Amino acid sequence: MRVLLFDIDGTLLAGAGAGKNALEEAFEALYGKPIQIPPHRLSGRTDRAIGLELIREHNLAPAHQEEAELGRMMEEYIRRLPARLDRAPGRVLPGIPDLLNRLSKQEGVAMGLLTGNLRRGAHHKLSQFGLNKYFPFGGFGDLHEDRDDVAREALAATHQALGKSVISDYQSVWVLGDTPLDIRCARAIGAKVLAVATGGHPFSELEQYQPDLLLENLSDSQAVASALLS
Ligand SMILES: [Mg+2]
Repeated sequence: MRVLLFDIDGTLLAGAGAGKNALEEAFEALYGKPIQIPPHRLSGRTDRAIGLELIREHNLAPAHQEEAELGRMMEEYIRRLPARLDRAPGRVLPGIPDLLNRLSKQEGVAMGLLTGNLRRGAHHKLSQFGLNKYFPFGGFGDLHEDRDDVAREALAATHQALGKSVISDYQSVWVLGDTPLDIRCARAIGAKVLAVATGGHPFSELEQYQPDLLLENLSDSQAVASALLS
């Protein structure tokens, strides 16, 4: 059994700012002041970590009320995300539809998500392009600040989805992502990692983190599938 865990933003999809805009809009609606969140503070991080950082930076709640405040902010964000995605859907990255289609037809391949998005956010983003059907399980950004913990959640979800009997049968788990944090979290679960330079991090930067495989993009889906399955 081969397990492939996909990041969303910068790996499957190139966003056009809908997530960032929905969060900024939610913030302004709740707290009455506009903010601009720099993209580097979002890259590879979990929605929970981003939300908690905003709460602390802007002193929005005392420590014992952070959790409730985060819940309020994330609800407001999720409520606004679909309309923002309608306005700025972004696009599916080159080769992705063919790659997913190809892999989904392979015997002994299981695909899941490993993303910092909230579970519902991930669903909204992928549903624009009909991609949810490929990912029956995953790890998400609802519960964890650290992406390494999201990787552990994704692995646990894999075990749950596939049944314990196949665990010993894993030849390898691959994480596919576009940031240094994706590479790090793959190592945290002992997985191999394919890094792709289609997000905000250039090839030369990702190279320094020594992924098992590094590609400019996934457009040669046949070659990518072969590498993942070999
Ligand atoms: Mg990403």
